[in-house]
Amino acid sequence: MPRRRTSVLQGSCPGRPVSLAVVLRRLIVADAVRDPSGREGDAVLVTGGRITAVGRSGDLRSVDLVEERFPGATIVPGLRDAHLHPVGLAALLQRPSLKKAADFDEIASILAAAERSLPPGAALTALRLDDESLAERHLPDRHLLDRVSTTRPILVIRYCGHVAVANTAALALCGIERGTPDPTGGTIDRDAAGDPTGVLRETAIEPASEVLRPLSAPVTPEHLIATAHGLAAVGLTGVGAMVAAGGGQWGGGGSELDVVVAAAPRLPITFGVMVIADDPTELESAAARLAAAGGKVRFTGVKMFSDGSLGGHTAAMHDGFSDAPGERGTDRLVPGASLAMARSALRLGGRVAIHAIGDRANGSVLDLMETLIGEGEDPSRLRIEHASVLTTADIARFGRLGVTASVQPAFLASETTWLEKRVGPERMKRTYPLRSLLAAGTPLAGGSDCPVEPPHPLWGMAASRDRCGLVPAEGLSADDALALFTSGSAAAIGEVAALAPGNAATLTILGGDPITATPDELRRMKVLEVWVDGEEVVVPEGTVVWRE
Ligand SMILES: [Zn+2]
Repeated sequence: MPRRRTSVLQGSCPGRPVSLAVVLRRLIVADAVRDPSGREGDAVLVTGGRITAVGRSGDLRSVDLVEERFPGATIVPGLRDAHLHPVGLAALLQRPSLKKAADFDEIASILAAAERSLPPGAALTALRLDDESLAERHLPDRHLLDRVSTTRPILVIRYCGHVAVANTAALALCGIERGTPDPTGGTIDRDAAGDPTGVLRETAIEPASEVLRPLSAPVTPEHLIATAHGLAAVGLTGVGAMVAAGGGQWGGGGSELDVVVAAAPRLPITFGVMVIADDPTELESAAARLAAAGGKVRFTGVKMFSDGSLGGHTAAMHDGFSDAPGERGTDRLVPGASLAMARSALRLGGRVAIHAIGDRANGSVLDLMETLIGEGEDPSRLRIEHASVLTTADIARFGRLGVTASVQPAFLASETTWLEKRVGPERMKRTYPLRSLLAAGTPLAGGSDCPVEPPHPLWGMAASRDRCGLVPAEGLSADDALALFTSGSAAAIGEVAALAPGNAATLTILGGDPITATPDELRRMKVLEVWVDGEEVVVPEGTVVWRE
């Protein structure tokens, strides 16, 4: 983070000692304060960890306080990302990424280079496979990965996390063969002879990642702490952290939850953890571990799945995909069990966040949430993750029920070239319908789903406005885009983002004005500082934020 601060101690004179109480009163002065709750001015007065006033610096200035000036900058509430996989991002920063590979040959050479550096017996896991950007325009199979090694297990995970490809050695190790049945909520792709091709979809990935995890290099608490500093560098003061209690495909080594709990006391930003668990017992013990973890980590609820992804053709749709008419996706909601899991998260004081991409999946999740609301549950504790393709009736139902749509505008940036091919021109009008959801009265929360997309909230804000050219009528205003990643995302993880007296001094200082900037200016805008509870997060030199 570039530092552009000048500090002045008002009224201090040489030789006069400055008491601690004096130093703890700080006036942060920029060109403007932008706050969705409506407060205006150019300065924020901070006493200890709290905001004590917001307004014009000329009115707030007084003797014996430290003034920190940021010319050209804007103070906004701390930016939050309501849906991010921190251990997945830490894993990405350690492992090969295939997002930039041009074709199958390049995939093989990236994997071969990584394979050479691994010790004997270790598994090779690579991330961010994207068949849509490969010359071949389809997924590779086990035969391509077998070119890299026939003995070392290899698992390559698609960037959406809902599809993976295993080589023959990995399939053998986890016992997937010709007669293996598809698991509930998943598919093992097979060739004309009935043999597994290596492509595993949805829950079919789990046995492979279970078996390979102990053979993969672990993500350590140090990796996660460095990753969290990178998140602060892009302006985030808190995240809705999606974390698997029992393993998780991105973790490697122990479970994702183990890594978060071990790192908790040293994490610089808040982690509102949404736990991915197998059953209510596992959820309850995860909640207890998080409550005892300390630091800025807390239990925030449960994360569940109702379908897959648009990219992987596993999103549950009412009608077939436009480019695969016979395919209507994968249902992952288990009626009784899903409701029981949701109820136990609410009982533990948490929220319920359910992944739904297709219009059929969103309908089923709204049904489930309507049941919970009918039982007296608070709709502000219920979130649908992604809410990608919706029927017109369900857009209205979102608003009527008051269920939060937790959206990731950055998906538009990576789906620009193929989204319409997948859903067709008619459904395209109600895919990521941000403005219509807002107009219906739906609470919106912004996120990235990183490492599916980059973690930068300013990029997400920009995409929510210009939609990378896709159905521009569904774009948000600059004010709504700022609210999406401040008040909206904060509310979805149980935090308050308003710059109001009495609130924690959790704020982000931007190198420009997010309201007057164009979307492209927003994409280039610098983050100057991030403060959490009155303390500046110092990002170590050389911290890596992201890589494609
Ligand atoms: Zn996710």
